[in-house]
Amino acid sequence: MIVVMQQHCSDEAIEHVMTFLKDRGLSGHLSQGVERTIIGVLGAVGPSGTRTTAGGVNPAIGEALEGLPCVEQVVIVSKPYKLASREFHPENTIVEVRAPCTTEGVVRIGETAVVMMAGPCTVESEKQLMTTAEAVRKEGAVILRGGAFKPSTSPYGFRGMGEEGLKLLAKARDEFGMAIITEVMTPTDVELVCEYADILQIGTRSMQNYMLLDEVGRIEKPILLKRGMSATIEEWLLAAEYVLSQGNPRVILCERGIRTFERMTRNTMDISAIPVIKRLSHLPIIADPSQGTGHRDLVSAMSLASVAAGADGLLIEVHPNPDEALKDGAQSLTLDQFKSLMPQVQLVSTAIGRTVVTG
Ligand code: PEP
Ligand code: MN
Repeated sequence: MIVVMQQHCSDEAIEHVMTFLKDRGLSGHLSQGVERTIIGVLGAVGPSGTRTTAGGVNPAIGEALEGLPCVEQVVIVSKPYKLASREFHPENTIVEVRAPCTTEGVVRIGETAVVMMAGPCTVESEKQLMTTAEAVRKEGAVILRGGAFKPSTSPYGFRGMGEEGLKLLAKARDEFGMAIITEVMTPTDVELVCEYADILQIGTRSMQNYMLLDEVGRIEKPILLKRGMSATIEEWLLAAEYVLSQGNPRVILCERGIRTFERMTRNTMDISAIPVIKRLSHLPIIADPSQGTGHRDLVSAMSLASVAAGADGLLIEVHPNPDEALKDGAQSLTLDQFKSLMPQVQLVSTAIGRTVVTG
């Protein structure tokens, strides 16, 4: 952290800052120019507000410094997240998920092979789920998606089948050997969802539900953390830091499009977030071009672009009859469209030296 003092500030003001730092176990390195003094803060600033070697930077110290007399600006140099950062953890994190349909019985997200997760937006019925699961598995998807607890912007939208939906997902896992990913919306549902799911999805609307992040940080199952629709990459990594700092290292990030002024697509798929995350973090990142675009005709192009940009996997909505879907029909691929997409994903993966896990 660097404290920039106002021009021609008094020696007392500088002394005041130095004492403030000293009282918190930190020290200041003075650099006095002709007109301006800057103070480099030495020592990490942790959650307790004092020196630490553990967590990341506590923003409260910077905010307090900004309020001291004659302080013009406080510049935070180190990243506010630590456990999620590549600086702290240079090797890629690989998240392992049990998937009996694969030859090894597990699928690893974050390795060379791209992982396909597909299924309906929402579990609607046994027939709908089983038909979709069978079809996407046949094409090589190893993880089955399907919402049982659905966040809905309108209270009149379909909110999901709840535990009945979870039971159907478990049935599909038994039948097709795929791992199951499904959303959890509240801290009180975490235990229940854990009984059925292999990966717990935190939706875009919940990315800043810190009680929920804390709760899933205390379990051992992998967490798929969607980017908040209006979240910066830094806010997203800080959300991941919540989960990691509670002790759960199995975090997978998911870019699902952000809100911009553009109205032609439901969201703006931020493909650039993928290489940015790869640079800043060791966590695997996948892409969800279904929520990202809102239109099934755009899903293939954005899937391929995401893989080309370095995504470790794709999360894709597929429905046997999208026109009849209770949710997100316009962005759901038909079974045939998913079938056509798979060889294209294989081609792009090969072109960039990767493979696709198919079983
Ligand atoms: C979904 O995956 O169906 C979903 C609701 O995602 P998001 O939270 O990204 O909107
Ligand atoms: Mn959806």
